[in-house]
Amino acid sequence: MRAIRLVRFGAPVEAREVDTPEPAAGEVLVRVRAAGICHSDAHYRAGRSPTSPLPLTLGHEIAGTIERVGAGVDRIAAGDRVCVHYLVSCGACHHCSRGSEQFCERGAMLGHHRDGGWADFVLAPARSVLPLPDEIPFEHGAVLMCSSATALHAIRKARLAGGETVAIFGAGGLGLSAIQLARALGASDVYAVDIDDAKLGLAESFGAIAVHAGAGDPVKDIAARTGGRGVNVALELIGLPTTIRQAVEVLGVQGRAVIAGLASEPVSLDTYRELLGKEAELIGSNDHLMQELPLLLELARRGALDLARVVTRRVPLDAAPVNQVLDELDRFAAPPRTVIVPEL
Ligand SMILES: [Zn+2]
Ligand SMILES: [Zn+2]
Repeated sequence: MRAIRLVRFGAPVEAREVDTPEPAAGEVLVRVRAAGICHSDAHYRAGRSPTSPLPLTLGHEIAGTIERVGAGVDRIAAGDRVCVHYLVSCGACHHCSRGSEQFCERGAMLGHHRDGGWADFVLAPARSVLPLPDEIPFEHGAVLMCSSATALHAIRKARLAGGETVAIFGAGGLGLSAIQLARALGASDVYAVDIDDAKLGLAESFGAIAVHAGAGDPVKDIAARTGGRGVNVALELIGLPTTIRQAVEVLGVQGRAVIAGLASEPVSLDTYRELLGKEAELIGSNDHLMQELPLLLELARRGALDLARVVTRRVPLDAAPVNQVLDELDRFAAPPRTVIVPEL
């Protein structure tokens, strides 16, 4: 089968012919119909995030159809439409048994620690695949498994309640899902903060109030629009010290700021004025959980989460176009989401 593999850090990914794997007991072989290209993949290619073993087939946002099942798999059958939860966890360790599988002591991520979905086929544990409803295209099913799921987890970490106000910093792939999910889960006003006019236009089309961070201080802007009260929930999806600080500053009394963007620099905060003085909370959000995916799929099936304007580009299973997308992601110049479609 064909596969796009990371062979060496800092070098372009390569198209290779590899053996089609056989599902062992408890495993399934998925024929990939769509696989997302994510900003994380650009980090893996560059060697900024430990990825092993090499060579490795990348691709952790996967949707397709069941090709074959291994012994003992009776819940799903050949031909079923599925999407794949990328975190392969043991289900039995300290963290798994407490429902926090993203900290699994033996966890391994598809497309990061074992072969992923930038290929004709991918092997996955049967317990990691979910039925993909007919209403959801494969391209959307793939992207639901990463950016949308991460956005939902961040909103759940924020304990968003009906009628609350939300400020979302970053209106890219994650943010456009976060806006729709916050609204679907009952938020009142949702402010989208970005510096990119096209992304802010998309955010507005999903019902957000656009706040152009290049045109002034977004914290002051949102304070003015909320009668000086600030917001109940802020989601930071960019990972810059400035926007992390803004996400805390924009909070009202007992507000919760959730940080899901990866920052590489320290952030300083006035803990009296910004946190304890108003009983605000600063919360980290890491990845997502299998148990959150059924709600996500149901919201997408109902159209409350629509990725048609988020997944804007399809490329074939070839090294050149994939490297081009990764180059764009490195330059922050990519459209919200691109997926590989092996049938193209
Ligand atoms: Zn991803
Ligand atoms: Zn575990």
